[in-house]
Amino acid sequence: MSKLDTILAKPRPDADDLAVLLGAHVPAEQARLLAAAYAVKVREVGAVVYFRGLFELSNLCSKDCLYCGIRRSNQNVERYTVPVEEILSGARWAWEQGYGSVVLQSGERSDPAFVDLITELVTKIRALSHDQLAITLSQGEQSEATYRTWFEAGAERYLLRIETSDPDFYRRLHPADHSWERRRDCLRLLDSIGYQLGSGVMIGLPGQTVEQLARDILFFEQEKVVMIGMGPFIPHADTPLRDGIRNFAWKRHAQLTLALRMIAVTRLYLQDVNIAAATALQTLAPNGREQGLAAGANVIMPNLTDPKYRTAYQLYDGKPCLDESATQCRGCLEGRIASLGETIGFGQRGDSHRFQRSKDKLRFGQGE
Ligand code: SAH
Repeated sequence: MSKLDTILAKPRPDADDLAVLLGAHVPAEQARLLAAAYAVKVREVGAVVYFRGLFELSNLCSKDCLYCGIRRSNQNVERYTVPVEEILSGARWAWEQGYGSVVLQSGERSDPAFVDLITELVTKIRALSHDQLAITLSQGEQSEATYRTWFEAGAERYLLRIETSDPDFYRRLHPADHSWERRRDCLRLLDSIGYQLGSGVMIGLPGQTVEQLARDILFFEQEKVVMIGMGPFIPHADTPLRDGIRNFAWKRHAQLTLALRMIAVTRLYLQDVNIAAATALQTLAPNGREQGLAAGANVIMPNLTDPKYRTAYQLYDGKPCLDESATQCRGCLEGRIASLGETIGFGQRGDSHRFQRSKDKLRFGQGE
């Protein structure tokens, strides 16, 4: 038996198997890896895809991450904040469609007006959906008081990618005043407050190794991450990390397949978490997100931001569906999901099984 097949025959890979699996790029081996991950997904969380309606509510940002298109020092972006009423009508639409959850994402700000805006949105979305829509926030690093305020207003899930679990590598991707330790501490705060904790990394960053990606997966487990949102790095022309662009065309396939292996290996190791098939996958292949589902992901985040704002929320070049409305996005997605033989979990919240199980353990006094 090959090394890969020996690992795949285990009930669950060991920590030091992860890098081997991530490196399995030979097509026949990769196909076996993805199929094994798909089987674990069906066993652990079912052949059901959960939709989370995504609202990119503002691109104003106080951070200056070297890879990101909406970084503070990019002068080529028109800055916007979507009016409250527009978000609320979008959220109402999502609720009427049977979406279990919406995600509010934006650049990072921590001024009182912004904190109040998010509190207002959370309160009103909960009210209009009679507490049925679960709300995921993704507003970056905030104070404990702010996280608590939003949690008490009714947000239950939070997505904060660690970007990379390697502190030295993080420092190479961010200006000196950004802190990996602070970001990690934010994850711990969010977990202690009671949020379902989401995190993730970018895959295929310049200089990143499969050993680092393997440690990222161990980091998710250590930090009690129960929702994973990760996607391929895609260079943006107006950022310091634009250098990769010249050679990117021939790298697209490698970026896509590495991201698919990362999803698969995360599924094999963490088993009962929720994993999103990131929009960035679709930038690399028209059916990239469906390929993500086939590799073990079980969540898709249809973009419900009004198309008039989308060109200004370009985190990376070539973001897909820039001119599609929410309904068109839904139509094209549903057909493709049905063709995979999966169903869509309409009318269900789709909480992370891993989160539920850890809560049950605490409740029944079997906490580790
Ligand atoms: N301000 C929020 C949301 C950030 S944008 C926060 O800090 O959490 C969401 C994610 O987009 C980031 O966490 C990052 O992982 C991803 N992203 C940014 N630039 C990217 C790029 N060039 N390629 C791929 N993903 C990118």
